[in-house]
Formats: sequence, structure tokens, C-alpha cells
Amino acid sequence: MWPNGMALRVAVIGSGPAGVYATEALTRQGGVAVDVFDALPCPFGLVRYGVAPDHPKIRSITGSLHAVLDHPDVRFLGNVKAGVDLTLEDLHRHYDAVLVANGAAESRRLGIPGEDLAGSFSATDLVAWYNGHPDAPIDQFTLRARTVIVVGMGNVAIDVARMLARPAADLRGTDLPAHVLRVFERSEVQDVHVVARRGSAQAKFTTKELRELGDLTDVDVLVDAQDLALDQASQAMASRHPSVRRSLDVLHDWAQRTPHGRARRLHLHFWLRPVRALGKDRVSGVEWERMRVDDRAVAGPTGNLIRQDAQMLVRAIGYHGRALPGLPFDETTGTIPNAAGRVLRDGIPSHGEYVAGWIKRGPTGVIGTNRRDANETVAALLADAAELPPAPVRDPDAILELLARRGVRAVSWSGWNAIDLAETDLGRTHDRPKARISDRAVMLRAASQGTDLGDGRSDNPELLRPQDV
Ligand code: NAP
Repeated sequence: MWPNGMALRVAVIGSGPAGVYATEALTRQGGVAVDVFDALPCPFGLVRYGVAPDHPKIRSITGSLHAVLDHPDVRFLGNVKAGVDLTLEDLHRHYDAVLVANGAAESRRLGIPGEDLAGSFSATDLVAWYNGHPDAPIDQFTLRARTVIVVGMGNVAIDVARMLARPAADLRGTDLPAHVLRVFERSEVQDVHVVARRGSAQAKFTTKELRELGDLTDVDVLVDAQDLALDQASQAMASRHPSVRRSLDVLHDWAQRTPHGRARRLHLHFWLRPVRALGKDRVSGVEWERMRVDDRAVAGPTGNLIRQDAQMLVRAIGYHGRALPGLPFDETTGTIPNAAGRVLRDGIPSHGEYVAGWIKRGPTGVIGTNRRDANETVAALLADAAELPPAPVRDPDAILELLARRGVRAVSWSGWNAIDLAETDLGRTHDRPKARISDRAVMLRAASQGTDLGDGRSDNPELLRPQDV
């Protein structure tokens, strides 16, 4: 309990890993009531819409995230956009503290000519599309490209390359939306080039994700041994970091292999900086400049230009946070300025306002990194709790009434469970374990059915039609 016997009321913005881990830490000792808001009708953020569909083990983390949100002191309120449906002022009127964990939804830009040609996409858009994100246009990708270039050498680039090279038959067991699976089944992709501007020792992927590329059915992985030659700085890096050495071993192994003449090829290139995307109306290739690193591992140009044909370009060069109206925002880092999770206004900690996850520290780390990060923020919040002025509106139903008055259809926890069940039902009709619903209106229809039924079950087979997905 909070000092005066009331429950401390906290609004958590975002139900991705950072928001859920913060909720877990907040509810651990009792006496804290948490409302978790999400702009989407469903929880789990990037675990649902960022993790690749062919990574079920990572996705299974939703099981433990689900258990946190299932807590009696927690309410999930989906389909509510903080900053739009509810202002920061609204949140402060109804909650003693606001904790923002809304991630980093924007994709970074290359800033090169031709970047906006047809056929050039951000990995964020591609990943959102294949994961059935309700804001992703269903016909955005056709995969009618023989050659695809993926710029960047982080785990997102590896995910995207693997998904594009993987035979569609291997994707049938996933929960890909039906329309996405159809596009993968008709994919014309034969060659995927993943390109880094620095060397193999500076690549951002993790060894586990890299190694997986070698296990794909009917795919040759091609690496030029010359690309792997290590300068002094890279050698020092490899000797300091066993993980770098492990990745280099994998790459050297591939560089020595003779291609088997398989249906698809996955090429990994290093030391190439994109100069421009080529093409008049749509992408026809990329012009690169060969790079080298100096003794501080900083990449510099050589003036040596190379052209490569491609019909599709994907930039997988990192994410960037989005400002939340009313809160300070650092445009350069894409984060909300903070000290150990306390939002800084003009450099001074603002009591009652907190951040966690990518919007706090930038888009780095794996899912588990967010638990430590959220614990730090919640420790700061709980340390401040005794001094936080109580929110003027204390009736928990008041926020629901406010949303209803504004015409916002908030999705409850039972509503989300109904969507989840409807996706299982839909999968069955396609002879698959599950198929995602990617249409927001259909999700809302399924959710309201769940609320009506009380236990989140949808027994109505007419509720969803295949053409809805
Ligand atoms: P990232 O790890 O930061 O990688 C970004 C890549 O883009 C780097 O290779 C970077 O090269 C390159 N890049 C940046 N700006 C560029 C430019 N202007 N021109 C050319 N290349 C450029 O970002 P991410 O791949 O988006 O991943 C974000 C986070 O999510 C990471 O922490 C990642 O590990 C995590 N994630 C994990 C998994 C998993 O565990 N399976 C899956 C997906 C994502 P430089 O190094 O030269 O800057």
C-alpha cells in the first residue's frame, strides 16, 4: 500500500517487453494498481510484431509476458493511443505516475539519393507486414524481385534476409497471416545480398542468429574470403571479444565452402557503403563505395565505386524513437531524456514521469535487457512514491468512461484473449496452427465478442472470414 492506504495508480504506456517487465516489477510487492495502455488492440509490442515468425522460441516469451498482464492488479487497455486518445495531462489526472515504454517505432533513414524509389523499403515496414501489423498495408510487398539488397548487418538485417531466403514451405507452420504466406509462396527471390559498411569484426549480429543462415533448406550462403581479412583494429576486437571470434569462425567456414547450386543464395558483403539507390521510377540497383577502417575502427571511404543490380532494397539500419506530445524528446538519440528512468525536464528529474526500454536507452539489446532496464526505472519510481502528489481522479472506472465519451474502443484483457482464440480458429480453417488477423476492424470485432462472452471465448465461426485477413 501507498503511505495513506490508497493503492498507487500507475499508467504504463506500451505493452512490449519493457512495459510488461516494468508492470511485473510494480506489482511484485502489492499496493500498486497498473493500467497498461497500448496503441494496438493486442499486447506484447515487438515480441509480437518484431520477432520473426520463424523464431518460435523467442516468441514463446509471450507466455511469461501474458502471466504478468493476467495479474489481478493489472488492467490491459489496448487500442488506446497515448498522446492522441489520451493526453499526458489526462494521464496525470488519473494516475499518480506515468511510465512510458513505447519503444522506438520509426526506422532510420540512409539519407542517400533514390532512397524513396518504388521497391525501396525499411525493414520496419517489411517486418510489420510479414508479422501482420494492423497498420501495415496488406499489398505493400509482392516479392517479385529476383535480387534483394539488405543494407545493415544487425540482427534485423539477418532476420529479414533469412525470411526472404527461406522456402515458403518452412513458413506454413508459423502464424504468418494468410495473405503474407501467399506472397512468400509466390516469391521470385533468388539472391539476397546483406551488406555492411564496416568489417566482419564490427558486425552487429549475434553468432546464434548468424549461424542459423547456414541451416536454411536449399540455400547457399556465400562470403568472399577477401572481405574477411582483418586489419589491426579488427584483430584486437576479435581477441577481446569471444563472441566476435565465434562469428568470424562461422563466416570463415562459409567462405571456404563450394556452393552447392541451391535454389537460393544468401550473400554477405562487408566494407560497402551505399552511395545511391539506382533506378528511374523504381529501384534497379545500388551504387556502393568500398570502405576501410582506421586504427580506431572508424570506417572511411576509398573512392572506389561499385554497382550492383537489384529489384528490391531493404534498409535494416536501426530504429528511432518517436516523441510523445507533452514529454521532452532528444531528436538525435530518439529517446526521452532521463536519469535512471526518471524523465528529465530541463535537466531536472520530473517526479511522476518515467521511461523504460528503447525510448529510455535507444534501440539496443535483446528482449531480456529490458528486464534490468525496467527494474531500474521502477526502483526510481517506488523511491519517489511517497512524495508523489496523488492524482486528483481516483476512480479506476473514470478513465474507461473518458475513453468511451471520446469514442475510443479500448480492448480489455478478455478482449485480447478473444482475439488470440480467434487467430487459432482462423488458423484451423487454413489447416495451420494459427493465422494472424491483420485487420484492426476484425480484431476489434473479435475483441468485443470476447467481452460479450465474458470469458474471452469466441464460439461464433462466422465472426471471421478468410477474406478478413
Ligand atoms: P543494429 O544492431 O544497431 O544494426 C544496425 C546495422 O545498420 C549495423 O550493421 C549498422 O552499421 C548499419 N547501419 C546503420 N546506419 C547505416 C548507414 N547509414 N549505412 C549503412 N549501414 C548502416 O540494429 P537492428 O538490427 O535494427 O537491431 C536493433 C536491436 O534489436 C539490436 O539490439 C538487435 O540485437 C535486436 N534484435 C535482436 C534479435 C534477436 O535476438 N534475434 C532480432 C532482431 C533485433 P554500423 O555498425 O557500421 O553502424
